[in-house]
Amino acid sequence: MKLDITAHAWLARKATLRIFQALGEGNVRFVGGCVRNAILGAPVADLDMATVLEPKEVTALLKAQKIAVHATGLSHGTVTAVANDVVFEITTLRKDVATDGRHAEVEFTKNWNEDAQRRDFTMNALYADLGGNIYDPTGQGLDDIKAVKLRFVGEAEARIREDYLRILRYFRFHAWYGQDKAMDKQALDACRELKSGMKQLSSERIWTELKKLLSAPSPHRTVNVMLLNGVLETLLPEASNSEGLQRVIEVEKKAGLKIDPYLRLMAMAARDEFAVAGLIRRLKMSNTEKSRLLGWASDMSALDVALSDKDLKIEIYKAGSQIAMDRAILRAAGADDPIIRNGWIGVYKTARDWERPVFPVTGKDLVTAGVSTGPKMGKIMEALKTLWIRSGFTADKDRLLAALVLLNR
Ligand code: ATP
Ligand code: MG
Repeated sequence: MKLDITAHAWLARKATLRIFQALGEGNVRFVGGCVRNAILGAPVADLDMATVLEPKEVTALLKAQKIAVHATGLSHGTVTAVANDVVFEITTLRKDVATDGRHAEVEFTKNWNEDAQRRDFTMNALYADLGGNIYDPTGQGLDDIKAVKLRFVGEAEARIREDYLRILRYFRFHAWYGQDKAMDKQALDACRELKSGMKQLSSERIWTELKKLLSAPSPHRTVNVMLLNGVLETLLPEASNSEGLQRVIEVEKKAGLKIDPYLRLMAMAARDEFAVAGLIRRLKMSNTEKSRLLGWASDMSALDVALSDKDLKIEIYKAGSQIAMDRAILRAAGADDPIIRNGWIGVYKTARDWERPVFPVTGKDLVTAGVSTGPKMGKIMEALKTLWIRSGFTADKDRLLAALVLLNR
């Protein structure tokens, strides 16, 4: 098989040519996601390459051609090259000599077949040269990719025992590329039997992988299989509502939203501060992630589809626009009545498009108006803000300062 290089810009661009020329055309091939996605007709994101050269040779040859090189993962043979602003992850062919369920001790090799044997799935073990020719050392990758069949290289159980992350990768790739196909029985049985091995994975790896899974266009069927096989309950005991996931995906489509793994996670969880706090802690989420999820779980605003425009904006202001958007989409997803559902999508759009007004009075204004500094000033400021919000943000500075007499009494 051969990829049409005119249809795949990443194969034909200047940066690619420079890498092949620097390392020697026969010494390096593309591998993994870019080759897989090109064959499947899916967009290509990151560029992984495999080479017979050792990292220090790769580094020297690239530097000689003035290509920037970063030693990102030297111990397992990976360097990152940046040519004409394009990033390439270049990894020396390797084989595993020892594994512990996550990390492998590797040995470099010049043998493409050995390198293919340590890759996770047959469709991820396809290589492409500069001319677009595809190499399939396992002998199954091309057949499997044509049948959209996700299959472990070798025996599923043995491959999972080497690295339990492969369970999650299996479901992630199934969610992305294997949707309509029944899962390979051997692989699914192995994932179910060995699921407790995922306990030794770091929270960061689990969360990164789950986010990728939840970012697939329609992951709910895969998520359902994970739930039915008990694969998700150890990782996400607080988020097991696959119907909620399916419903939010429908609303995303209806409202033309971008895929958002956080919204999908919220759709699978109950709006319960304690449960969400547990989820955040276990997955070691970042502060940004934490504030979005906790903001949603703890929101006390009275958002509702039946509010007047003025009252709706007041509630959006109180909640904050991101939280209001999240709540509205999730309420739309939960609504059975299409009128209510559309109402919530309307609330979402208002929260998205409305520019949050800025409170017009500053501390300086109060001083000029004769208010003395101190704790009382803070209270006056709060009281004015309440008046301003209640006015639907229409009261301007003059009107608010004129109201000081009422408060100062
Ligand atoms: P994408 O980049 O689109 O998420 P990918 O297949 O390129 O998908 P990467 O994580 O970038 O995934 O890995 C690149 C390649 O390295 C994979 O295609 C696979 O061949 C191999 N690989 C990555 N992680 C593992 C693993 N845990 N076990 C075995 N092989 C792996
Ligand atoms: Mg990749």
